[in-house]
Amino acid sequence: MTPNDLSKLLAVVKKHYLDSDLEIISRAYKFAYNAHKDQSRENGEPVFNHVYNTALLLAGWKMTPTIITAGFLHDVTEDTSYSFSDLEKEFGEDVALIVKGETKLSRLKYRGMERYAENLRRMLVAMAEDARIIIVKFADRIDNLQTLNIFPPEKQKRIALESLEIYAPIANRLGMGTIRHELEDLSFKYVYPKEYEWVAGLIKDKITAQSDCLEKTQKIIKKDIEKADIKIISINSRTKGLYSLYKKLLLHARDINQIYDIFACRVIVPTIADCYAAMGVLHSRWKPLKDRIKDYIALPKPNGYQSLHTTVFCEAGEILEFQFRTPQMHEEAEYGIASHWFYKEHNKKDDSHKRQTAWMKELIEIQKNIQDNTKFLQTIDSLKIDIFKNRIFIFTPRGDVIDLPEGATPIDFAYAIHSSLGDKCVRAKINDKIAPLDTQLFSRDIVEIITDKNRKSPGKDWLKFVKTRNAKEKIKSQIKKSSLGDWIKGMMPKKS
Ligand code: MN
Repeated sequence: MTPNDLSKLLAVVKKHYLDSDLEIISRAYKFAYNAHKDQSRENGEPVFNHVYNTALLLAGWKMTPTIITAGFLHDVTEDTSYSFSDLEKEFGEDVALIVKGETKLSRLKYRGMERYAENLRRMLVAMAEDARIIIVKFADRIDNLQTLNIFPPEKQKRIALESLEIYAPIANRLGMGTIRHELEDLSFKYVYPKEYEWVAGLIKDKITAQSDCLEKTQKIIKKDIEKADIKIISINSRTKGLYSLYKKLLLHARDINQIYDIFACRVIVPTIADCYAAMGVLHSRWKPLKDRIKDYIALPKPNGYQSLHTTVFCEAGEILEFQFRTPQMHEEAEYGIASHWFYKEHNKKDDSHKRQTAWMKELIEIQKNIQDNTKFLQTIDSLKIDIFKNRIFIFTPRGDVIDLPEGATPIDFAYAIHSSLGDKCVRAKINDKIAPLDTQLFSRDIVEIITDKNRKSPGKDWLKFVKTRNAKEKIKSQIKKSSLGDWIKGMMPKKS
């Protein structure tokens, strides 16, 4: 890494933020560089390249300086001797919290479809506390996918599958179009290599066949719209993501000729009125296809997506989709909930990333959408938002998440996992430090239960501080059993 890399990144940040925001990012760059100096990845590349690329992706997505800083530091506590409190001292509480959340999420491993839904739900809820954590996770994951070839095939497949089945749907649900497509297309290649080749080939042929026509069409319509006195902020064409094209092909007998939005011409105009007016101009030049006008401005998609879509027969009978939107709709389509955080860092009181109610509603929505997969999520309908309130999410050292009521202790945690773990519990480690058994736990703590197999029964005093009914009942019944055992033993004639 060279000073050039830093200035390259700062140049991206400068487009959207003040010069005074650059200082913390430069410091994070140097800090991460020094922390990872002697480390290399499986392919011999410096680890720093990975954290740099993560930060660069975040900068490209216009994320706030705090998030970019966390991007630089996201592997520091895992891979080096620095602690969260070091980060807090150097970069403030927010950065430390994001890195902490990110580190804990990384321990949550994908273990097949059976546990997929439950892990997804728990992960989402844990993230609901601070959505910035998942943005850093997305950037981290995209860079990992871009360098996935350094891992053995089995690991490649696991990471790609997890990205396709968990990360991309979350990105979609958060309205983050750009990030979703990137996650999908990068993993598609590893999860379904043959299908990927097939779709990539189809697209390539289409591009060759249609690019001239696309360019001509765009010029014609640009002139028309400007003649109607509507300002065009930008006009360009986008190609459909490979994975979403693949899914659409499966719905249409694998026939590419039935798919009309492989390319779409995207027209960005200043106001909503301009969107409708520009569509009128388009329809007076070329006839729209029946039933293909979709007004997502009046009726946004569930994830908030807004645009005006229509499909027309262009010159020479070519069929092409057009999308009209305002700059704000465009930002929201690309960056979803995160677009509301842009430019707000200067206002220190702004905490739009914490708008939990809206997020919670989204969360419930997500779970509804993905429920078919598992029986757990089939019952989610009956869950009210309240159930998630006052719950804390605690990680096992292996990365599983246990959810508990607020105020729960390591004993509640142990009994939530297994009754014998509770019965034989002698000590607990919270975030790698030994802690009293009545310590109050907080969300995202990592808790390890230390047992003694000779321990006969739970402590009677545990009943004074446990919070869950489950733990209380198990403690009582175990105490009863063992004191009954003692009583029986007492009744037996003593051997002498
Ligand atoms: Mn990483």
